[in-house]
Amino acid sequence: MPATKALAEAERLMTICNSCRYCEGLCAVFPAMEMRRAFSDGDLHYLANLCHDCGACYYDCQFSPPHEFDVNVPKTFAQVRAESYRAYAWPRAFAGMFARNGLAVGIVAALSVAVFVLGILTFNDPSALTRAADVSRTFYSLMPHAAMATLFGAAFLYALTALAMGVRAFWRDIGEPVETLGEPRALWQAALDAGQLRYLDGGGAGCMNSDERPAERRRIFHHLTFYGFALCFAATCVATLYHFVLGREAPYPWYDLPVLLGAAGGVGLLIGPVGLLAAKWQRDAAMRDRRGTGMDLAFLAMLFATSLSGMALLFFRGGAAMGFLLAFHLGVVFGLFVTMPYGKFVHGVFRFAALVRYAKERASISAGQGLDDA
Ligand code: SF4
Ligand code: SF4
Repeated sequence: MPATKALAEAERLMTICNSCRYCEGLCAVFPAMEMRRAFSDGDLHYLANLCHDCGACYYDCQFSPPHEFDVNVPKTFAQVRAESYRAYAWPRAFAGMFARNGLAVGIVAALSVAVFVLGILTFNDPSALTRAADVSRTFYSLMPHAAMATLFGAAFLYALTALAMGVRAFWRDIGEPVETLGEPRALWQAALDAGQLRYLDGGGAGCMNSDERPAERRRIFHHLTFYGFALCFAATCVATLYHFVLGREAPYPWYDLPVLLGAAGGVGLLIGPVGLLAAKWQRDAAMRDRRGTGMDLAFLAMLFATSLSGMALLFFRGGAAMGFLLAFHLGVVFGLFVTMPYGKFVHGVFRFAALVRYAKERASISAGQGLDDA
């Protein structure tokens, strides 16, 4: 007996789809579904997280509304995915952050910015945020590097731990042995599939977001967002190496690697979230899970604010506003880190885990083994 209404609906749809199989060439979900005759809640969580929400199966389906079968896989899987985020949240006490996520993330972000602004005022002096340009002033004269590294290291470690515990619970629930996460071929295939967003292409024609005309826009904006985030993360890693290995302190000149990586990533994180927001706005309401809107908006807004404040800091770091811009940027990034395990960011982690499992299943089916032998 499925645990929720959304799971019961997903089970009903997968039973219909498994008889029909018209959509088997569209994405990974339908081949994975065909490997099963019955669907546990864990299977449905797995299939829902494997779905990239391209919308193709809604427009291709002869049983979608107004047909009485009322088959709407993208919307139902969006509801199941949202439930799975709550179900696997760690610690459990914070699962409630997924409900009214926009408000929760907004409060955490505002508090983080306030704490950093007030912290810099308290530990320096009130003029630190607006003092006239001073070439001898570095970021670390406003906040010591050790304090910055300790705070952000702790926030990042916490986010990693919470995400890892969530994946652990997901992995157990879908009944996959832990060894699969160490299989190089499955990991490599999943990395390729995730890196290309292979299953957001509606089987090759493109994503069907707002109508039945396929387009690549959503995939391009998602790429800009993902690779923008990856480049910003790379910039932070290089800057950390500069500091600890080469003994070079930020801020770095504009032609230096951390700045080039951060600026390229920042541009991606400015354009990508805006494009995704526009795509969300235009999305066919029939495929939307309205309850997830706040969570999507909050995450896109946090990414955009991170990039905008980082770029402003880059351009105005020699001016009087440097102190305030640094405090604001640090506050936003800290808020992003601590809310990562309780917002839309988790979709990337669970989707990657689902792709690893699918890569393994596909390889074992190609090798002529059943799922039980894999
Ligand atoms: S979504 Fe519709 S057309 Fe596609 S497999 Fe399911 S029932 Fe068949
Ligand atoms: S990825 Fe696209 S085609 Fe596949 S189940 Fe999701 S919405 Fe349907």
